[in-house]
Amino acid sequence: MTDDHKRNVAQKADQAKKIDQDWQRELSPEAYRVLRQHGTERAGTSPLNSEKREGEFFCAGCGEPLFDSKTKYESGSGWPSFYAPKEGAVGTTTDRSHLMARTEVHCAKCGGHLGHVFPDGPQPTGLRYCMNGAALKFEPQKVEAKNK
Ligand SMILES: [Zn+2]
Repeated sequence: MTDDHKRNVAQKADQAKKIDQDWQRELSPEAYRVLRQHGTERAGTSPLNSEKREGEFFCAGCGEPLFDSKTKYESGSGWPSFYAPKEGAVGTTTDRSHLMARTEVHCAKCGGHLGHVFPDGPQPTGLRYCMNGAALKFEPQKVEAKNK
């Protein structure tokens, strides 16, 4: 490892730390716990569960649009559920905590943890994106229709 490289690695580690402190300052405690510490909000606590208006759901961390209200459905789980994310908006990893393999879902842009995806959703995808409302922000569609 060259000195330059070492310095780079040290700088990167330092940046990551700063970013974490920034997240903690910028996010609500609940959003921070979910997005940055892979927390799960208590079922039924998110006001977004009952959000039925048309609009878009954004990442509470970075503001990236993640889900369209058209893909939201009532799963009865107590968490906001969608059958599909916006294209390329989320990434997944295998989560082996809690003694079972689940598919973890995170924001593709900032890496913030959003929830999990399960293969028991409705058509057309058959998937259930079980999201933490604390990781999302909802923006209702403007009444004046935007240009398509
Ligand atoms: Zn994000």
